Amino acid sequence: MPRKRNSSKQEAKRTRKKKEIDIDDLLNEYLEEIIKELSLENLNLSHDEYIEILKEPFASAVGDVSTKPKVKTIINRFTNRLDDLLDLVSIRILELREKLDEKQLEFVIFHLKNGIKMYAPFLYSEAIKVGRNDLIDYLRNSWSKYGIRTPVKCPKCGFEAIMPDLICKICGYTVSEKYVKEQLKVIDNLYELKRTDPEKFSEIIKSRHIYIVNNLIITEAEIRQSREQIFYEIDLTESDIKSVLKG
Ligand SMILES: [Zn+2]
Repeated sequence: MPRKRNSSKQEAKRTRKKKEIDIDDLLNEYLEEIIKELSLENLNLSHDEYIEILKEPFASAVGDVSTKPKVKTIINRFTNRLDDLLDLVSIRILELREKLDEKQLEFVIFHLKNGIKMYAPFLYSEAIKVGRNDLIDYLRNSWSKYGIRTPVKCPKCGFEAIMPDLICKICGYTVSEKYVKEQLKVIDNLYELKRTDPEKFSEIIKSRHIYIVNNLIITEAEIRQSREQIFYEIDLTESDIKSVLKG
């Protein structure tokens, strides 16, 4: 029986499907060499897991081609943007696995950038479990570079991660408002304000309420106009007021 002609819609679907299969086959064929060249063998993942973490960057490295690219070409494309690739691979590993072994933990902490906001608390607790202070130090630096860095450092874990609700984003420790005031040098800054902007200073003394954005004291009216996401809201106590008025 003669085959029926496909409609153009079906044909488009068929072509797309065919191309996907080609990319999967190609990844299967090149997988071992890619793992070796990018030094990913220590990750100790299963074949399927390697496929899973690499298929998306592999497809974009192959791009829209009609002829089969050489494995060297793909690897060159990967190594040209190695940081981005390893960041993405780290995110995929974290999505894929509930538990990481120590080598995987090490890899992810060393390479994670974009995912750090989401995964730093988990990675911190995993590194604590295996007693790897070196990894915690590394993670602390990455947090300050790529995470949600705040001006108040946590006294427990040392990450710059005390949020405006006074809770550490990384270890969950809660600090007092007094601690935040000390860390942000609120009294010193109020002294400074008294000298440089007496009008704003007296407004603040009257309201007894301040907001701090990037170490700057601002008023309620100013915070309403600001687009800042992270600000601390602080009440000034009787003794705070006394000590700034005295000086
Ligand atoms: Zn903490």
